Amino acid sequence: MAGETKDNSLPKNGLLSARSSDGKFSRRLTDDEFDRYSRQMIVPGMGREGQLRLIESRLLIIGAGGLGCPAAQYIAGAGVGTIGIVDGDIVEASNLHRQVGHATSRLGMKKVDSLITHLKALNPLPTYIPYDFQLTPQNAADIISQYDLVLDCTDHPITRYLISDICVLTQKPLVSAAAVQKSGQLTVLNCPPAPQGLVDGEYPPCYRCCFRKPPPPSSMVSCGEAGIMGPVVGMMGMAQAGEAIKILASGLHLPPPTSDDNTAPPLERNLARPTLLIYTYDLDSAVGPYSFRALKMGGRKKNCFACGEGSTLTLDGIKTGNPDYVQFCSAPTINVRLPPEQRITAVAYHAAKEKGELPAHILVDTREKEHFSFGSLEGAVNMPFGRFLMNAAAVKRTGGSARDLLPTGAADGDAPIFVVCRTGQDSQETVEKLRELGLDNGGQRKIVDIMGGLRAWKQDVDPTFPFI
Ligand SMILES: [Zn+2]
Repeated sequence: MAGETKDNSLPKNGLLSARSSDGKFSRRLTDDEFDRYSRQMIVPGMGREGQLRLIESRLLIIGAGGLGCPAAQYIAGAGVGTIGIVDGDIVEASNLHRQVGHATSRLGMKKVDSLITHLKALNPLPTYIPYDFQLTPQNAADIISQYDLVLDCTDHPITRYLISDICVLTQKPLVSAAAVQKSGQLTVLNCPPAPQGLVDGEYPPCYRCCFRKPPPPSSMVSCGEAGIMGPVVGMMGMAQAGEAIKILASGLHLPPPTSDDNTAPPLERNLARPTLLIYTYDLDSAVGPYSFRALKMGGRKKNCFACGEGSTLTLDGIKTGNPDYVQFCSAPTINVRLPPEQRITAVAYHAAKEKGELPAHILVDTREKEHFSFGSLEGAVNMPFGRFLMNAAAVKRTGGSARDLLPTGAADGDAPIFVVCRTGQDSQETVEKLRELGLDNGGQRKIVDIMGGLRAWKQDVDPTFPFI
């Protein structure tokens, strides 16, 4: 770990002193501030100047969830002067195991208001600015341009690309993190900021330089669907706060000092080459191993869509729908891919079963086993979708028996197979794949998707079903 943090250590080239004697701080520390921040001011590399820079800084946190809560706590505690928070959601009970800036007593409250209540109790000195709506291509530039630094604490690629593009165009450094299930990642982008199109030299990358294309939607799962361990996302949020404090206290977000040749930001202000920090948490291991890895990343890409040479990305374009972020992050639509005879609604399935009109059949539930263990439909057998896809690919590759893909007892005969999943997407893909693999016995065997999955079941059939 010691070796891995070295690249992100405070610069040793006098950045702190570069602006410490310029007399530009608008005021001195008050007694209250001195008392409150003394323990961090005496840390080598921070000092009074670093603290004053924090107090005079404006930081924007986008997302008041699992990343945003811990990040905001340490940002507020450290005394960053103005803290904006963007989030349109409300606090739900299922948030609380990881979103530690909220509280049971504030269920149903807007997340930004809940988090600011918490932060004010921790430190009343900063100015807190709530934006209780989601970031959109129409409002993003107006909000982001008012800040010195942005923390991306969201959990969807659409917002990640939007935030990064606006940060490129408004020249704001961006600290980006993500976490799902048992792993998290963190990277500092666009820092120090450089004008769009400047690619000669080691200028820092943007999000698109590192992740040119979004992951395929079928592989994207939110924390709500895949689950998330609180300490994993908490760790990444705290690391974001650490990077943000470092950038703001050292002045890396500030415009370059005036010089005779001020056509480009001086490269010596760069941090060491950017890294992608990856944290994996081994839940199956009783103690450790504590797994942090830091991968070196390249600099700005010449052909990057956002920051590269000849980029045509503009703020006006973004506002008017160019690029189309939703389309960019979507696969060809797969929402309704099966013909009507291969689908049945949850209500119709239930009614037919109650009336004894359903023939003996196999009911396959494709959720992960952890979801399945919380509750399932009567008679359902579990066939987790991820493992099924992997096994199906192996069968295709090796020419193995497709019958082995089905749960024990479901492979033989022509009994119909009904497939159910969480929300109705994976089940459709499963039906399609089973047919492709010939498991419909040349049309003899019906394979049917239960539309809308167990979400529809809970909504339309049984409100007591334990849907998570
Ligand atoms: Zn780029």
